Amino acid sequence: MKRRDILKGVAALPAFGAGAVAEAHQAPPARDYFSELGLRTFINAAGNYTSMTASLMPPEVMAAIQSSAQKYAMLDDVQDKVGEKIAELCKAEAAMVTAGCWSALVLGMAGVLTGMDGKKVAALPFPEAAGMKSEVILQKSHANGYHLALANTGIKFVLVETKEELARAISEKTAMLWFLNREGPVGQIKDEEWVALGKKHGIPTMIDIAADVPPVENLWKFNQMGFDLVCISGGKALLGPQSAGILMGKKDLIAAARLSAPPRSGIGRGHKVNKEEIIGMYAALERYVKHDHAKDWKMWEARIAHIKNQLGGLKGVYTEDILPPVANHTPSLKIGWDPSAVKLTREEMGEKLRQGTPSIETIAWEEPDSIRITVFMLQPGQEKIVAGRIREELARASV
Ligand SMILES: *Cc1c(COP(=O)(O)O)cnc(C)c1O
Repeated sequence: MKRRDILKGVAALPAFGAGAVAEAHQAPPARDYFSELGLRTFINAAGNYTSMTASLMPPEVMAAIQSSAQKYAMLDDVQDKVGEKIAELCKAEAAMVTAGCWSALVLGMAGVLTGMDGKKVAALPFPEAAGMKSEVILQKSHANGYHLALANTGIKFVLVETKEELARAISEKTAMLWFLNREGPVGQIKDEEWVALGKKHGIPTMIDIAADVPPVENLWKFNQMGFDLVCISGGKALLGPQSAGILMGKKDLIAAARLSAPPRSGIGRGHKVNKEEIIGMYAALERYVKHDHAKDWKMWEARIAHIKNQLGGLKGVYTEDILPPVANHTPSLKIGWDPSAVKLTREEMGEKLRQGTPSIETIAWEEPDSIRITVFMLQPGQEKIVAGRIREELARASV
C-alpha cells in the first residue's frame, strides 16, 4: 500500500484525529443491505409492530451504539452504571436493561421468587420444588397473552375480577400481584388500589407499561405510585433498540432479577443484552425524557389533518380521529368507506398500499371496509405520500 493510500484510508475513519487509533475496526464503505438482500422496505403508517421491526433508532441512539462498540467493559459494570442513570431518570430505586418488556416480566418475576438465594435461582423454572411461592394473581381482563411471560418461571395464575375475589385468592403461595396497564380501564380494580392491596397483604406488585409512553410522565408515575416493579419496552415509542427494555423498581428486587440474567446462567440466560444495546437504551431514554413532546404531538396532529384534508370530497369515504386511551396513545386515524361506493375490502386496500411504490404498511385487519393508520412512526413528509396513495386507491375503486 502506498503511503498516500494509507492516509486516504485513515481520513475515511469517522473520527479522524487523536481518537482514530482507538477505533476497534475500520469503517467500511456504506452498503445498502436491504437492496443487496432484496428486502422490501416500507413507510410505517401502522405503528410499533415487532413484525415490522417497530421503530427507527434516532441518531443519538445510533451514535451511542457505535461508540460503545469500540471498547470492552464488564457486562455487570455496564448494567450497574446504566441502571443508576435509568433509575434517576425514572425516579425509581433501581433499574436494569432487559431484552425487551417480555424479558423484564420474566426476569422481574424470577427476582421476586428467588430473592438473593442462589439455590432458588438455580431451581427455576420449578419454584415449588425449591419451596418458593408459586402463584401470581391478576384480573381476568388483564390475562391477554403478555401475562404468559411470567409463566416462564414456572408460576401458575389465579384470575380474579373483584376485590373480594382477590382477598379470597391470596394464600401463602401468592408470590406477586400483576397489573397490565393497557387493560387498566377495563378491570374493576384500578392501579392505585392494586398497589394498596399489595401493600396491605405484603405482596409485591408488578405493572406492564410496555407501550405506554407517551405521555412521558408514565416513566415515573408507576414507580411513584408504589409498584414494586415496572416493565417497559425499549423499542416502541422510546425509540431505543428493538431488542431492549427496562425493568425498574425496588433495589432488592432488581438485584435479585439480575441473578437470573446474563452474565449468569439460569432461566434468563437467553435474555442477553449486549453493552451496545444497554448503552443505546440509556441514550434513547435520556433523549426521550429531554424531548419536546408537545412539539411532536402538534406535528402528529398536523399529519393527521393533512391526510384527512387530502381524503376530503371522495364519495362514500369518511375519516374518524382515534386516540387510544392507553398503549400507543398517539393521534391516529380510521379511514372507512361505504362498500357500495368503493369496491375494495380492507385486505385488498392493505395489499394495494403494500404493493405500491413506495410500499406502505397500514393497519388493515381491525374492522371491515376501513383501515387505520398511526403517524408517529412516519419520517417527516411521508404523510404526503401516505395521503396521496390512499386517495389514489380509494378513487380508483370508486363506483
Ligand atoms: C409489546 C408488549 C410487550 C412485549 O414487549 P417487547 O419489548 O416486545 O418484549 C409486553 N406487554 C405489552 C402490553 C406489550 O404491548
